[in-house]
Amino acid sequence: MMNRIRNSPRMLAVAIIGALFINVLAQSNPYDKYRNRTYSNKGYLSEEDEMKLAEQIHEELQKQARLVQDPSINEYVNSVGQRLARNSGRPNIPYHFYVVDDKSINAFATLGGRVYVHRGLLAATRSEAQLASVLGHEIGHIVGRHGLENVKKSQKYGLLAGLATIGGAILGGQAGANLGGLAGNMVAGGFLMKHSRDAEREADYLGLYNLKNAGYNTGGMVEMFQTLQEVSNSSPNALGGILASHPPPAERAANTRREIDEHLRGSDRRGLSNTDDFQRLKSGITSSSPTRSRVRPRN
Ligand SMILES: [Zn+2]
Repeated sequence: MMNRIRNSPRMLAVAIIGALFINVLAQSNPYDKYRNRTYSNKGYLSEEDEMKLAEQIHEELQKQARLVQDPSINEYVNSVGQRLARNSGRPNIPYHFYVVDDKSINAFATLGGRVYVHRGLLAATRSEAQLASVLGHEIGHIVGRHGLENVKKSQKYGLLAGLATIGGAILGGQAGANLGGLAGNMVAGGFLMKHSRDAEREADYLGLYNLKNAGYNTGGMVEMFQTLQEVSNSSPNALGGILASHPPPAERAANTRREIDEHLRGSDRRGLSNTDDFQRLKSGITSSSPTRSRVRPRN
């Protein structure tokens, strides 16, 4: 009896420390803070203005980058993208998916429903679910209003003189005349797509659930990050800006794996992984790539 009484404070301490430890473990899933968030344009540009600016930025991008014109590639990427968009946290705006004729592995979203994938990224994917995981991540940036957040920050620091004078109000009418120049500054400044690591993790989180809700095998996302990790080990230059702007692919793979194991158990063993359309796209890209990449002397 005495013994038990004397031991009990220690037992209590052990129990408390144990509970704290378990609590810390339970909280250390980096995605926990994104759960149950709601998103809207409140505090940002109105949806209407966002769409207008996205259109202008697209025109600007077309001056600076070449888009793939092959309808079969565009239609396929759009069909995958639209399927995800319908099942995303922001299904009520129009989405457009474009393929940039660039062999580096990259993808980005601007504002509104505008998503861009490099040809090099398509070439690196091995299943439709992998491609969908990238598109889902980009849609996640749009759902999370990450581009709009960057516009807001830039306004604050006076980087967008045009927008500062408009004060974030309606961009149409007279102010709309300056929109082209404004979009040009945004593209040239490159800050529109420069997200914090936290925003990148949130886009991964939103993308994973989008993938699952669209009926894809969530293992595709883990595989895609593993592919990125392999490429970053062997030829980091091929990754374009991904390595600089996103958390390391190994960390993204681990976060995704953990989320699947803790909250989406079994979602990596069912769902759509590959399609005939994807296989057709791959054979098209492979057969056309020798003509595109000119032979250069190696040194
Ligand atoms: Zn991103």
